[in-house]
Amino acid sequence: MNYYSLNNPNHKVSFREAVMQSIAPDNGLYFPETITPLPASFYETITALTNEEIAFRVIQPFVGNEIPETVLKQIIQDTVCFDFPVIPVADNIFALELYHGPTMAFKDVGARFMSRCLEYFNRENDCKTTVLVATSGDTGGAVANGFLGTKNVDVVIAYPGGKVSAIQELQLTTLGANISALEVDGTFDDCQAMVKKAFSDADLAGMHLTSANSINIARWLPQMFYFFFVYKTLKPYNKPIVLACPSGNFGNICAGMLSKRLGLPIARFVAATNANDTVPRFLATGTYTPNPTVATISNAMDVSSPSNFVRILELYQHDLKQLEQDFSSFSFTDAATLAAIKELYRQNGYLSEPHGAVGYLGLQQEMPQQPGSIGVFLETAHPIKFADIVASCLNITLPVPEQIERILNKEKVSHKIKSYQELKNYLMKK
Ligand SMILES: *Cc1c(COP(=O)(O)O)cnc(C)c1O
Repeated sequence: MNYYSLNNPNHKVSFREAVMQSIAPDNGLYFPETITPLPASFYETITALTNEEIAFRVIQPFVGNEIPETVLKQIIQDTVCFDFPVIPVADNIFALELYHGPTMAFKDVGARFMSRCLEYFNRENDCKTTVLVATSGDTGGAVANGFLGTKNVDVVIAYPGGKVSAIQELQLTTLGANISALEVDGTFDDCQAMVKKAFSDADLAGMHLTSANSINIARWLPQMFYFFFVYKTLKPYNKPIVLACPSGNFGNICAGMLSKRLGLPIARFVAATNANDTVPRFLATGTYTPNPTVATISNAMDVSSPSNFVRILELYQHDLKQLEQDFSSFSFTDAATLAAIKELYRQNGYLSEPHGAVGYLGLQQEMPQQPGSIGVFLETAHPIKFADIVASCLNITLPVPEQIERILNKEKVSHKIKSYQELKNYLMKK
């Protein structure tokens, strides 16, 4: 399978090259050259397949012959080695819990898949790859955990100082070994801009830099898996499915929408955002004008220039009318988010956190227009990752899961930076 740059359809590379480079030399995101629907028989028999079998069928065409079948099956086994429960929350409303992996956010899926692909591609050379990643909170921990000890790979994580939760910070600053953390005086968009600049900096060209953000296809594509798992679980209801994703960089929802192109019967997608509302405003007004990033309680979605939105536009050939057939997007305030966390807990006995609650609000807004459907919102992180907010909102104490207990008394190690030049100096010294 080849991938082309969204800035130049004539620039094409293999799966391996796209993973190693992350982003094309012209700064375009890579996009699969062909998207072939899976056969009807796959969907007819999906309830009889294991998660591993489903994941293999979904991803294999995108990898092609660049990773042997036995290796790819092992990578998948390591990737989907935890549960993806679909929990009934209210009448015809379900939560897909994506937080049962090692760092308790959905990003474990992409990070685990990508680290193992890189390990395979680097197996026979001695050159070192540096994974440079910007995080709004959860990517850092998932990537640190997924890549810890990966041969010939160094990981450098740039995160906005003071803008991630205490547990998120511990998850990305305490592992040591091949993982280091840069605490940036700025926002997530600043971190993301620095990382993008490093990729196109000629002075760093010899460093084999790659990204583990959802701009990298090996992070993004495996996020399709759990949309298929939801369908498998809810197929017996035989009703149209509306899926709401709490969205920041729009990687998750874009993976869902790509799944639909593979024939997955999801009726409609809802991208629910916090106050960083570039996409909902774009749908309403037709103009794409990112505002400065605003800090919110759903910090992993504090993104005002969502990288993956161009991939969604590409899927719909930039035809907004077509896009709106399948897609809506709404923005919600922190006050509404807190009210939703309360409603979910008090009325439905469901413990959520700010991101999942934004997804739930998106679903609430969409469902009246979709009678006869069932709705699913993604619960993208474990409530403990946002313990302060959830506990004070509900006036409860949260039990600490064992994955988190382990890091609580570890020492934070970070390197503070203020500018792109400082990031560059840091990388050049590596
Ligand atoms: C990253 C993240 C999101 C946003 O996902 P995108 O793919 O960037 O839209 C939502 N919730 C949580 C908990 C996250 O960590």
